[in-house]
Amino acid sequence: MDDVLTGLLRPKGIAVVGASATPGKIGHTVVKNLIDGGYKDGIYPINPTADEILGYKVYKSVLDVPDPIDAAVITIPAKYVMETVKECGEKGVKGLIVITSGFSEVGEVELEKELVRLAHSYGMRVLGPNIVGTLSNSDKLNASFAPFLPLVGTSSLVSQSGALLIAIDAITYTRGIGFDKLISIGNMSDVNIADTVGWLNEDESTRCITLYIEGLKDGRRFINECAKAKKPIVVLKAGVSEHGAVAAASHTGSLAGARHIYGAAFEQAGAIQATDLSDLFNSTLALSLQPPMRGENLLIITNGGGVGVLATDSAESAGIPLKFAPETVQEEFKKHMPSFGSAKNPVDLTGMAGNDWYFETTKFALSHDWVDGLIVLYCETAITNPMEIAQSLYNALKETGITDKPITTSFVGGERSDSAMQWLVENGIPAYNDPDLAVKAMGTLREYAVLQDLKNSPINNDHEVDRQTALDIIANVRAEGRTGLTEVESKSIFKAYGLPIVRSDLATSEDEAVKLAESYGYPIVMKIVSPDILHKSDAGGVKVNINSEAEIREAYQTILTNAKAHKPDAEIHGILVQEMAPWGTETIVGSVNDVTFGPTVMFGLGGIFVEVLKDVVFRVAPISDMEAIKMLDAIRGAPILDGVRGEGPRDKKALAEVLSKYAYMISDLGEHIQESDANPILVYEVGKGVKIVDARIILKD
Ligand code: ADP
Ligand code: MG
Repeated sequence: MDDVLTGLLRPKGIAVVGASATPGKIGHTVVKNLIDGGYKDGIYPINPTADEILGYKVYKSVLDVPDPIDAAVITIPAKYVMETVKECGEKGVKGLIVITSGFSEVGEVELEKELVRLAHSYGMRVLGPNIVGTLSNSDKLNASFAPFLPLVGTSSLVSQSGALLIAIDAITYTRGIGFDKLISIGNMSDVNIADTVGWLNEDESTRCITLYIEGLKDGRRFINECAKAKKPIVVLKAGVSEHGAVAAASHTGSLAGARHIYGAAFEQAGAIQATDLSDLFNSTLALSLQPPMRGENLLIITNGGGVGVLATDSAESAGIPLKFAPETVQEEFKKHMPSFGSAKNPVDLTGMAGNDWYFETTKFALSHDWVDGLIVLYCETAITNPMEIAQSLYNALKETGITDKPITTSFVGGERSDSAMQWLVENGIPAYNDPDLAVKAMGTLREYAVLQDLKNSPINNDHEVDRQTALDIIANVRAEGRTGLTEVESKSIFKAYGLPIVRSDLATSEDEAVKLAESYGYPIVMKIVSPDILHKSDAGGVKVNINSEAEIREAYQTILTNAKAHKPDAEIHGILVQEMAPWGTETIVGSVNDVTFGPTVMFGLGGIFVEVLKDVVFRVAPISDMEAIKMLDAIRGAPILDGVRGEGPRDKKALAEVLSKYAYMISDLGEHIQESDANPILVYEVGKGVKIVDARIILKD
């Protein structure tokens, strides 16, 4: 575990620089909060002019404090911070909790960099600046201006928004969902989200990591840290509706957006993405209390048919559709219900169900091998007491001794049900006031299990490539002052990375074109090759299905005329003569070099509607073979690849291989390639492979 970060987030000895005797000032609030929180490891207010604050001796400088100090909370104005940093460094402080604002968030970028440089020169780490502070229930540490420690819980929250952190602190009590630590991360000048994920993964009092993210700085490290984590991570990302300027010179560029790319990154990181704040809480509750759902078999027990049906619908949309329980399982349930109950799934014990039936069926269901996850629903009735039902569930759970199978619950009713649910949560069983939420929570536990498998799948970096050829082409293009590669240049790079391109050659005269065509055999395709024309069809620069010498000669002239009309000063390299690929399902593979995550690969159904349908999926490159296959299944149009309307299934194996190789190519050439696409890639029937008929690469400026 990182000692310095431990000193910062679980300090033994803490100074408050800028401590004040005046209530209302942050420097006062922090001292008061440390005291009120019950922190016992040494509070040292620092202020050159005061003697005592809230009964604590005040020191003029951290250097005057006789005891060791792990962390210093800094609340003085930005312009005085450097001096303090030096003193803290000399004192041997490990971490600075810089609450002070007035740094990069107001344009003082250099001042912030200087702060970090100075801190690092003493081996210190910086949390913030511009933060609320950091809180830890297990250390009784409230080193912040948030009013109190959160309700005790087993998840820890890292938040980029200070205001939200304070709000969540309060919500923990009204929602009854607790946290161990709340860490405000502010400007992330030094300690960033990846650092905290890595540290929390080792923190013994944290069972689940909850993140509120506005923007990441080092996306790749974030993915790696999360992927390494052995604890569930749930994340709410704000700002997915717009994304930083990605110049859209390619199809892929125009399709890339924060929603897609962050979504992909979270999936690869093995992190569960929450849809909104409520979902963040609900998922945190489930993940911090229950194990993942490792198989697909969900069982629902209910005393009300209505909520059973609602839950059945929810289960389908949560990705854990219900199946009927096996006969033997049903037989057992029948012992604990009237004849008009249903032992299938949902198991409807009917409104006659009392404590015993709930106890017996819960115990049986949890212990049975067939059941991978259990949801218990309860509607308040006149003959039952919600608290007793809750206790029956708890006792059943205890009696089975099972801890590796998840259970979630929903009690639908009034205040008595609410208290019973609160009691359940306090005793480790997630409870929600809506059956849909109990099901979604189980869906989250299932998703967690699935993501675990995916994030551990190995990336194949063993492709045979000819990197030098690619670099030479890139160097040539750059020497000509270009960033856009022609189809010929792009395809040569694709070929160097083992991608299956159609056969083609450049002709610079009609005669040459004819000769090439005859060596290929008809039909052929002819295309304009010009660094100034990247969208060839738009310029009338593509002719397909050419079947004779006469047609070649005619197409040659037409293409040239069209190109000149389209762009009179276009530099023309010649006309590409190309093998005409037979018809196949049109798909697109492309890439963008994302500001946050770097090279990112895209897959979608291709053709002219790609930008309209936006049926695409992204992954940060490189990807594992398993991820490549998952990408093919992730688009809405996935069934098309499995064969529709009498067509045989398409060669997904070959397509996935292309995706892997492509992802490898863009990451291997990540310092050069800004955007690219292969559009279309024609996909044939199983065993018949795929063919890339068009290629486009745009280099970084
Ligand atoms: P651009 O995208 O620059 O307009 P393409 O090379 O993609 O040009 O050609 C336009 C369309 O022509 C493709 O989407 C594809 O449908 C068809 N096409 C191009 N090359 C071939 C080929 N070699 N075999 C079969 N069809 C082709
Ligand atoms: Mg194209």
